[in-house]
Amino acid sequence: MTEQTAFVEIRHAQKSFGTLEVLKDISLSVDRGQIVGIIGSSGSGKSTLLRAINDLDPLTGGEVWLDGVQVNKKLPHRQYEKHINEMRQQVGMVFQHFNLFPHMTARENVTMAPMMLKGLSKDAANRLAEEQLDHVGMLERIDYYPSQLSGGQKQRVAIARALAMKPKLMLFDEATSALDPELVEEVNQVMRKLAQEHMTMIIVTHEMDFAASVCDRVLFMDKGVVVEEGPPEVLFRNPSRDRTREFLRKHI
Ligand code: ADP
Ligand code: MG
Repeated sequence: MTEQTAFVEIRHAQKSFGTLEVLKDISLSVDRGQIVGIIGSSGSGKSTLLRAINDLDPLTGGEVWLDGVQVNKKLPHRQYEKHINEMRQQVGMVFQHFNLFPHMTARENVTMAPMMLKGLSKDAANRLAEEQLDHVGMLERIDYYPSQLSGGQKQRVAIARALAMKPKLMLFDEATSALDPELVEEVNQVMRKLAQEHMTMIIVTHEMDFAASVCDRVLFMDKGVVVEEGPPEVLFRNPSRDRTREFLRKHI
């Protein structure tokens, strides 16, 4: 049976770690090509929600759907493994701490998954790496190791590596918050470029100006709930909830 779902749909997500309830009945729909920002204080559940989308932190209640397929469906172990690997290949993730493989060059970081998971030949994977690293402005450093790159450059390689799998959806979890201020913009530029190319993205960020300029919609999360959501011009300029106002007063 096929169900009518948005491109990304989270229904009544609930997550507890032991007795700590970190996501409380969160629902969210994202259309194809939409860019949704998530803001909120540390500990409010932003990363847990993002990780739930590809079932890295399985929900204790609720459903996640991607392009008409339920991601967190209950299946016998073997079938689940196959299913979740297929789903995860469709979702690119970029984290705060560049998780590049340190013993591999930028090229090798990008070619590995397409060769291992999609069976690309070395030549095809190399062409893909060149294309993707060029896209993020890192072609000149293609044979550098992560230790030879700045934080901003590492993050751009991490984005190229995710894009090489041709994901349907990109998730960014504070991709710029570990960077020196002068390196933030080069990474933001890459995200802006993806936005222009209509990549569907969910971006957790503490940079309000960036969220305001790139997102179609912004959600403010606090203590495991979405307090308020709306287009950035409304959420940032004219929030309706006290908790949102209080947060923005401290962060803008
Ligand atoms: P945010 O990304 O908004 O800072 P998180 O999603 O990382 O928030 O965390 C939300 C809450 O869940 C925090 O209180 C955090 O300590 C808790 N938490 C996150 N991951 C785990 C885990 N694996 N085990 C126990 N508690 C966790
Ligand atoms: Mg987080």
